Amino acid sequence: MNIERELKKRSNQSCELCGNTDNLNIYLVPPVVKNAGINESIYTCTVCIEQIETPEKTDVNHWRCLNDSMWSEHKAVQVMAWRMLSRLRNEGWPQDLLDMMYLEEDDLKWAQATGEGEAPEDKIIHRDSNGVIIEAGDSVVLIKDLPVKGSSMIAKRGTSVRRVSLDHENAAYIEGKVDGQQIVIITKYVKKI
Ligand SMILES: [Zn+2]
Repeated sequence: MNIERELKKRSNQSCELCGNTDNLNIYLVPPVVKNAGINESIYTCTVCIEQIETPEKTDVNHWRCLNDSMWSEHKAVQVMAWRMLSRLRNEGWPQDLLDMMYLEEDDLKWAQATGEGEAPEDKIIHRDSNGVIIEAGDSVVLIKDLPVKGSSMIAKRGTSVRRVSLDHENAAYIEGKVDGQQIVIITKYVKKI
C-alpha cells in the first residue's frame, strides 16, 4: 500500500490535527528521514501546513483543535501537536495541554529536534551601545579606540565596519574587517549605522 492510501485510511480522510476534510496532504514530519513512511507522516490540511511552516501566520484559535488531536495514538501526530503547543505555550492553555501530554523519551527527543518552542531568551542577540539589535550584514561605527587582539593595530574610534558577522556563541562580540583585517569587535563599543 502506498503512504497516501494508508494515511487516508488511518485518518478517516480528515486532517489529523484539525479534522478538516478539505485539501489534505501528506506531511513528512521534520527532520525528514530517508525512507520516511507512514510512521513519520501525518495527513493534514493546507491550513495546518501553512501555519506549521510559517510561524508568523499562526492563528492561535485554529490550534484549539489540538485539544483532541494531541491524544492521537500516532506518534507523528503527537509530535506535531507537541510542537505547535510549544510554539503557542505563552497563550496559557497550550501550556496546560502540554502539561497533560505524555511523550515517550525518544518521541520527546523527536518533538524537540526542530527547536520549536525554545524560549527566545535562549537566542543570542547582539546589541550595540544603544541597545539596537545588530544583525549579520549590518554596518557599525566604532565609538572607542579598540586594540586589535593579536596585533599592534588599533582600530580607531569613528572607523566604520561594513557587513559585520556575529559571534553565535557570545552576544558581546561581532566580527568585521578593518583595514583589510578581520577583527573581533566588542558590541558595546559600536553604534549601528
Ligand atoms: Zn488541519
